[in-house]
Amino acid sequence: MTTYTNFKIETDADGIALVTWDMPDKSMNVFTLEVMEELEAIVDATVADDAVKGVVFTSGKKTFSGGADLTMIKGMFSMIGEEKAKDPEGAVKTLFDAAGRMSWLWRKIETNGKPWVSAINGTCMGGAFELSLACHGRVASNAKSVKMALPEVKVGIFPGAGGTQRVPRLANAQDALQMMTTGQSLTASRAKAMGLVHEVVEPDQLIAAAKAMIANGLKPVAPWDVKGFKAPGGGIWTPAAAQLWPAAPAILRRESAGNYPAALAILKCVYEGLQLPFDTGLKVEQRYFTEILQTTEAFSMIRSLFVSMQELGKGARRPAGIDKTEFRHVGVVGAGFMGASIAYVTAAAGIPVTLIDRDMDAATKGKTHSEGLVAGAVGKGRMTKEEGEKLLSLITPSADYGALSNADLVIEAVFEDRKVKKDVIEAVEAVLPETSIFASNTSTLPITGLAENSRRRDQFIGIHFFSPVEKMMLTEVILGEQTGDKALAVALDYVAAIKKTPIVVNDTRGFYVNRCVFRYINEAYDMLIEGVPPVMIENAAKFAGMPVGPLSLNDEVAIDLSYKIMKASIADLGPKSVKPEHMALVEKMVDVLGRLGRKNTKGFYDYPPKPAKKSLWPGLKDLYPQKKAESVDMTVLKERLLATIALEAARTIEEGIVTDPREADVGSILGFGFAPYTGGTLSYIDGMGVKAFVEMCERLAATYGEHFAPTPLLKDMAAKGDTFYTRFDPYGETQKAA
Ligand code: NAD
Repeated sequence: MTTYTNFKIETDADGIALVTWDMPDKSMNVFTLEVMEELEAIVDATVADDAVKGVVFTSGKKTFSGGADLTMIKGMFSMIGEEKAKDPEGAVKTLFDAAGRMSWLWRKIETNGKPWVSAINGTCMGGAFELSLACHGRVASNAKSVKMALPEVKVGIFPGAGGTQRVPRLANAQDALQMMTTGQSLTASRAKAMGLVHEVVEPDQLIAAAKAMIANGLKPVAPWDVKGFKAPGGGIWTPAAAQLWPAAPAILRRESAGNYPAALAILKCVYEGLQLPFDTGLKVEQRYFTEILQTTEAFSMIRSLFVSMQELGKGARRPAGIDKTEFRHVGVVGAGFMGASIAYVTAAAGIPVTLIDRDMDAATKGKTHSEGLVAGAVGKGRMTKEEGEKLLSLITPSADYGALSNADLVIEAVFEDRKVKKDVIEAVEAVLPETSIFASNTSTLPITGLAENSRRRDQFIGIHFFSPVEKMMLTEVILGEQTGDKALAVALDYVAAIKKTPIVVNDTRGFYVNRCVFRYINEAYDMLIEGVPPVMIENAAKFAGMPVGPLSLNDEVAIDLSYKIMKASIADLGPKSVKPEHMALVEKMVDVLGRLGRKNTKGFYDYPPKPAKKSLWPGLKDLYPQKKAESVDMTVLKERLLATIALEAARTIEEGIVTDPREADVGSILGFGFAPYTGGTLSYIDGMGVKAFVEMCERLAATYGEHFAPTPLLKDMAAKGDTFYTRFDPYGETQKAA
């Protein structure tokens, strides 16, 4: 019998072949070209073998599969890019064929003449779920870990292996659209309720149940291959569909402002496909998929949100030759807002934490935060009681620095005050083992300056968390001038252990993320001062793809904090570092009007008691003479908001603060939600072309101020036709050596 690298086949006495997908040397099954070739060979072999009556397809891993290997898709982009230059039509034909490879293989399974059942034992994503949908039967385990989704839209593409045709022929069209345009995950029971799986069983019954479906005479014919088939709800010529379809594009526009071509393509595939025979529907899907694969959005999103994010998570920036740290004990000093959460995420990663504050009461109060989170998670069924107890048992509140004498890493999150931090650094270093690392979570104080209080500056580093720590996926790892490789390696090992994505940033005021965020907020100040109606500012941000408007964001971080930071900038860098008009605005909001932001329910917005929603403070319009809405160009507002951030990102590269474009891009999306469809700040520039970006900045600078003037680096790149990813090639030799 043929053996396969990625599959194991066992045929039982009843003639049911159990095909177990288990890729060697991979923690998760993904579709590669080799996997698809083997799968096709398996289909041919089982069809040819009379002894085989049917096939049960499952996974040998804990998860079923993550879907297609997107690194392969990224490779396809570069191949097509090169081919397109030589033979545009031929390149698109090659892409069209590649885009349909999976789809037609799944169709071959569906029409092979023998019944196939997919036994879904764990998370089943993308192409793997589409493969399951092409099987004649689907059984899922009811284990909590089992999730099913078609999440392609989140990386700028869509379910192009039959997903857009099969889901709306199994589920009603509205649920199908909702599932695919958001990429949401379904539990096994929800998938069953939608009609996407046939049975949900106990994990240990999975294979037996799948085999029973075949033994009980499962027909090897998809519902849509039976004459007279009608989609659930009756297709698109029904009264219900007449309600759904005219509204669907409007709803999508409201949700995504027309920024995601892949989401719109899903609508088109479903709408057109439901009016066509199944095979023609698949062809329509293949055409749209080919079109979407050629968009800048798909290219940039796959690169940043999948490939780069994975590479950074796996330690792309970790110095070589230093053993991986297995954390036995981490100390957190300062059990306030941030420290309490840092202790929680550390314990959630299974690492024992000592949480220190000035006295036992304050330290214990910090642990209460974790108790609240655990109670919430247990209540919602996200954590078992035992898991919750285990997590809490790992957090030890204390007022005694002596408890840190065997810590591998100590993170301080005390008041943002140089003197307080100095005392803490000295107290910790008095007990900390010589080889251990000290990290500061400061958000505004340069690490190099803080490290001056340390006896071992090479072991001193910044680990900058974002709030809310439990939710935010990013951490900035900040290198002081004297930070050594060991400290960097330990910090990155720690960030990996708590399952967040790190970016490594050289020391500067505001580091990377906050520098960009300040630009965003400052541009909104400029707009307010010009008399742009506040609601237009907030809406322009949403239409540009930002998750939170700049005024709303400023309320979240607190306007008095902006005020404090501006005063600190003036003290440290001189009066020119802050625009006087900005200072006047913030001074008025804080000192005169007492509007500090969400924290005192009054900022640029009013925050009435729940359930009422926040709304823009009406008095804001009275601060500056208002322009007429018709005289304000929304397109320019959008450009200004994105360009000012992207320019700041480019400056951080030019100054050597950020050295790897992947980090600027990923950091901007995970740190402050920079328009994800662009792939991040630098991909936004690369995507439109540096030359076009420079021209846009020059145009904006002429009207809105010198802060839009393109920098020397950008001008040079425009002249040479460079992109950030070619000039600062993260995979190139120069970068590796740097
Ligand atoms: P916080 O005021 O909520 O907490 C500070 C804690 O430190 C308090 O519990 C206080 O009792 C304790 N503390 C003060 N002096 C101490 C000492 N000598 N020994 C031990 N404990 C001491 O402040 P926070 O918002 O959690 O900020 C803490 C740090 O995190 C700051 O450096 C801040 O810049 C940084 N940070 C804050 C945010 C944010 O969103 N709040 C985000 C990133 C970084």
